[in-house]
Amino acid sequence: MNKNWDVIVIGGGIIGLACAYYLTQDGKKVLLLEKGDIGEGASTSCDDMIFLQSKKPGILLTIAMESLDMYRKLAKDLPVDIEFENRGGMVLIESTSQLGHMENFVRQQKALGLDVELLDRHEVRKFCPLASPHILASTYSPIDSQVNPLHVMRGFVKIASAQGLEMKQHTPVTGLSSPSPGHWQVTTGDGTVYETEYVVNAAGAWAPQLAAMTGIDLPIKPKRGQIAVTEAVPPFGKTNFWSADYIVMKLNPEFAKERDSLLNDLGIGLSMSQSHSGTYFLGGTREFAGFDKSVDRVALRLILKEAARFFPTLEKVNIIRTFAGFRPAPGDGKPYIGPVVSQPGLYIAAGHEGDGIALAPITGYAISRMIAGKKLPFDLSELAPEGRVQMWSTID
Ligand SMILES: Cc1cc2nc3c(=O)[nH]c(=O)nc-3n(C[C@H](O)[C@H](O)[C@H](O)COP(=O)(O)OP(=O)(O)OC[C@H]3O[C@@H](n4cnc5c(N)ncnc54)[C@H](O)[C@@H]3O)c2cc1C
Repeated sequence: MNKNWDVIVIGGGIIGLACAYYLTQDGKKVLLLEKGDIGEGASTSCDDMIFLQSKKPGILLTIAMESLDMYRKLAKDLPVDIEFENRGGMVLIESTSQLGHMENFVRQQKALGLDVELLDRHEVRKFCPLASPHILASTYSPIDSQVNPLHVMRGFVKIASAQGLEMKQHTPVTGLSSPSPGHWQVTTGDGTVYETEYVVNAAGAWAPQLAAMTGIDLPIKPKRGQIAVTEAVPPFGKTNFWSADYIVMKLNPEFAKERDSLLNDLGIGLSMSQSHSGTYFLGGTREFAGFDKSVDRVALRLILKEAARFFPTLEKVNIIRTFAGFRPAPGDGKPYIGPVVSQPGLYIAAGHEGDGIALAPITGYAISRMIAGKKLPFDLSELAPEGRVQMWSTID
């Protein structure tokens, strides 16, 4: 038995590492267990955007704005260049019906304090002369930013390790039980049992498997995202980009009728962000395909066709690699951040779907405050697992 830990974090993605970082900052002795290599889940198979404009006004936009402020501080505090960049973002609008929805969306976002405005066709051209002439308008926010998730994780590891974090890679958790309130036993693949007062389930799309070990039905599913990466090219405009059609469809499912059915089946909506090295990430799909990590030609062809529809010169650009990752998609669209009250000492930090990079700092900070019994400067009650997860004993 090993009982040297205050907290055991399960999962070495950006969320688990953010938890480990803020917990060690708070003086906790932390063990992090990862079944493979650090970052082998979604956190290295994703884009890099802290894109506030795609967030529905409400709790997610509110905490994304807080998290962005934390990234500004992390960019100074972490001993690694996390490639934090405040390039701004545009959501490209193609039709008057999209424009109507986006005007309403922007009004709500502004009411929550987001710095965002609408640009007309002429202004769009000034921001990105290479955009297709059919683009009618755009939203623009100077706030949208990006980081390199791999570098953020390296930064968390460096600081947390210096403060006593122990990490065990290639160490899958295979058992989780609580012999008495506030006392947890965590068993790993080699049969070792670690004991602790607190456990944080930060296993991303795999979090339900851990939750099941304690009889909890956690409704998170892997949502595959396929991405194409271009060769390094000059910027296509001043900002990163999204297309409005996917955002509008998410807000108004009726709008799906205006889109190609294959785009809808694969959940394709354009996202384009340029990395520090000059490559563009062109995304992407949003599909429920189990844990199948393959990339398929039909989806890629559609992603590239979509991208070229917005930026015709992309047709001449080479694709240098492709990949797929699993967004941890929660049933009700909101991540689970907080304690499982009926199982003292057990916390969940999972289900961030397409926002886990943006929301990692606030999640880690919140979990560390909750475990320390300290008040949070913002209200996260909407994200509490209680009432949103089911104990198997209560399922008919
Ligand atoms: C294509 C794509 C594009 C995206 N773009 C963006 C973006 O632009 N901005 C943004 O904010 N978000 C984006 N996301 C979402 C973001 O990547 C995820 O929300 C985030 O990475 C989730 O982090 P996580 O730590 O919860 O999960 P993961 O990174 O998946 O980490 C979970 C870890 O748990 C480990 N694990 C699982 N089971 C066990 C076990 N039994 N024992 C021990 N360890 C275990 C896994 O190996 C894994 O390393 C994107 C995602 C995808 C797929």
